Amino acid sequence: MIVGVPTETYPGERRVATIPAVVPALTKAGLDVLVETGAGDAAGFLDAAYIAKGARIATDRQQVFADADVVLQVRSLGANPVAGRADLERLRPGQTVIGFSEPLGEPGAAGELAARGVSAFSMELIPRISRAQSMDALSSMATISGYKAVLLAASTLPRMFPMMMTAAGTVAPARVFVVGAGVAGLQAIASARRLGAKVEAYDVRPAVKEQVESLGATFVDLPLDTESSEDKGGYAVGQDEAFYARQREMMSRVVAGSDVVITTALIPGRPAPVLVTDAMVGGMTTGAVVVDLAAERGGNVEPSRPDETVIAHGVTVLGPTNLPATVPYHASQMYAKNVVTLLLHLVKDGALQLDLEDEITRGTLVSHGGEVVHPRVCDLLAPPD
Ligand code: NAD
Repeated sequence: MIVGVPTETYPGERRVATIPAVVPALTKAGLDVLVETGAGDAAGFLDAAYIAKGARIATDRQQVFADADVVLQVRSLGANPVAGRADLERLRPGQTVIGFSEPLGEPGAAGELAARGVSAFSMELIPRISRAQSMDALSSMATISGYKAVLLAASTLPRMFPMMMTAAGTVAPARVFVVGAGVAGLQAIASARRLGAKVEAYDVRPAVKEQVESLGATFVDLPLDTESSEDKGGYAVGQDEAFYARQREMMSRVVAGSDVVITTALIPGRPAPVLVTDAMVGGMTTGAVVVDLAAERGGNVEPSRPDETVIAHGVTVLGPTNLPATVPYHASQMYAKNVVTLLLHLVKDGALQLDLEDEITRGTLVSHGGEVVHPRVCDLLAPPD
């Protein structure tokens, strides 16, 4: 069985789905690895390094798609809606594609892959169970986003992060407020603390208070009713607009007192809640920085725009949508581990053997046998009356 790794074509995407270090795990399982020439260049993994680990290099993209039984991508069609379209006609019935694909935001892509007879697995749908932790690419990428959001804020802010007592006077530490303490938020807290900032954080899930405090940050206690704020999977449950209005009102004081606000609040399958209004940004000091990691999902911050730098009331508002691509070496290393672990989970005796009773296989399979098979994606394509 041949595993193909094409070059990523989404604009600005510098990651690659497989790195040389994971090739031996694939060859040991009886799989051949075929990498498009230059696929790892932008992440720092050159053709020679893949060859040294036992992969073959294909000189053209067509060959990767023609020869591969399984195509590994960072962004397959749904997550690469324009440039990814060119690959659709390269795919053939019976082929398998594994990658991020925005199955809940772009369900139509699953339909198109199904129509071509392709079996598609979505990395976004890896269940959050302990046995699947090493496949959890959303978590690995969120870790990188949280870290990089802090670096962006620190390099944009006209102040330093750490407190310094110097002969030229004392420099006060930057005050950072992190909204949403999931995977990205916790990494943002840890990174801001390492740089010496004074960090506060809030999340609707009261369970994270302890994690926030263990990182040396202060949990902001807002008197909101958050009893039913967490679902069985550990994700936040969407609240009504009245709740968010109260949350914004209660957070206003903390936002106004912060030099940096980093927002990461998401509700699976729904647009991100607006938690920082234009007026709240207006209450911040001149030169303050807001990084909205939810910008791609509609945004937690009213004035943020995806991938734009907006200056609102003298405050710099950033809305980066693909921070993992800006740390391509480690992002590719982590993603490769995730995607290869999933692939090896699906392989037995050198071939794909799909056990549709298995929670991980069933939970991530979006199209198969010419049909869209994931219930949540099916519902989105044909909403029940
Ligand atoms: P996410 O990206 O969906 O959301 C980010 C954070 O925003 C969450 O912590 C959420 O509670 C928070 N949020 C939502 N609405 C908010 C609001 N109005 N105000 C403030 N915060 C708000 O979540 P995630 O980071 O992917 O992970 C969420 C949970 O899943 C965490 O408990 C995490 O530990 C858990 N998790 C479990 C596993 C596993 O068991 N394998 C793996 C990864 C994550």
